[in-house]
Amino acid sequence: MKERVAEIRADFPILSREVNGSPLVYLDNAATSQTPQAVIDVIADYYSRYNANIHRGVHALSQEATDAYEKARKTIQAHFSAAHAHEVILTSGTTHSINIVASGYSTLLKAGDELLISALEHHSNIVPWQMLCQKTGAQLKVIPMLPDGTLDMEAFAHLLSERTQLVFVNQVSNALGTVNPIPTIIAQAHAVGAKVLVDGAQAAPHIATDVQVLDIDYYVTSAHKLCGPTGVGMLYGKTELLRALPPYQGGGEMIATVTFEKTIYADLPHKFEAGTPNIAGGIAFGAALDYMNGIGLEAIAAYEQELLQYATEQLKGIEGLRIFGEAPEKTAVISFLVGAIHPYDMGSILDKMGIAVRTGHHCAQPIMDFFQIPGTIRASFSFYNTFEEVDRLVAGVKKAQMMLE
Ligand SMILES: *Cc1c(COP(=O)(O)O)cnc(C)c1O
Repeated sequence: MKERVAEIRADFPILSREVNGSPLVYLDNAATSQTPQAVIDVIADYYSRYNANIHRGVHALSQEATDAYEKARKTIQAHFSAAHAHEVILTSGTTHSINIVASGYSTLLKAGDELLISALEHHSNIVPWQMLCQKTGAQLKVIPMLPDGTLDMEAFAHLLSERTQLVFVNQVSNALGTVNPIPTIIAQAHAVGAKVLVDGAQAAPHIATDVQVLDIDYYVTSAHKLCGPTGVGMLYGKTELLRALPPYQGGGEMIATVTFEKTIYADLPHKFEAGTPNIAGGIAFGAALDYMNGIGLEAIAAYEQELLQYATEQLKGIEGLRIFGEAPEKTAVISFLVGAIHPYDMGSILDKMGIAVRTGHHCAQPIMDFFQIPGTIRASFSFYNTFEEVDRLVAGVKKAQMMLE
């Protein structure tokens, strides 16, 4: 992999640009990944050659677009090993997917039901459930976090009961990089009859996931963290669960028949796909998975672990630098602070050197509250990052430290 990185980087036009007079060092991959030319070409090709609305069109362009869109759905199905293509609902992204499930449960829950949520969640996997609890009288309980950034699994076991209907957990925390023990969580939740929604937005770019082997009930992710475009993602759900879930939005595309007296909903997946979707985005989502599979998720993960280890060692050599989240199993995300320097100040100076990191609460304020900090500086790595870029980050942090302390 290390030998192939120069070649891989050439696939990404953006990686050769300069920012503020220096070659870009892009270390904000946990927020969004960069897009290879192959995926950009697929989007351009759609708009150049066969832009048309999908489904029910008799003309050639509409059929070509429908075929490409449905082929992408099959690629996504195969990538996550779903049993059926109709279990893959194409959405605008993780947030949309979670809202579909949360909204559906508003008629399926009753007061006294309990929902368990992990303390490591992204706001998009917190707020929709709070809204659901307000509507239904169900109660949200939090699986606490330990100081190393892992979940307190003993507490989880105690929280589970016959009242637990749903458990929500991310496979990987975007703020800390912690890999959560999904198989154990699912086995224990299923033992009390609860369903599990796995937020895979941060895990999908690094970890191959077989939704059937893991017996996942609902899995959600976004294409833009997987070398794909923004505004498209997926909701996977087991057939019987999706059939029982009421639709989220009404409109065209999601119906079988409509009269003013009664509407019969379309079958899966269309029941959850009201309106004209992001057609080019869906097709490009498939192309992005093809691109990543061409490199291989295992090779990607192994290389990113080398980058993580090297970057962790180098950053720890900086006096006063604290890393938040040191779970034994992590993806290549490093959240840190240097002395009393505000993350925003550090981030701004790094930007002046062409280094893109994220600063702030990373849409996970409860984690920041746990550590009693306002936010962190987060460097998140992808398979197209290099050891030289880690060196530039470390040198940049040292320089900023001299300027700011
Ligand atoms: C990015 C992310 C989300 C939100 O994804 P959107 O594409 O903004 O909907 C949710 N959860 C995790 C863990 C994430 O990393």
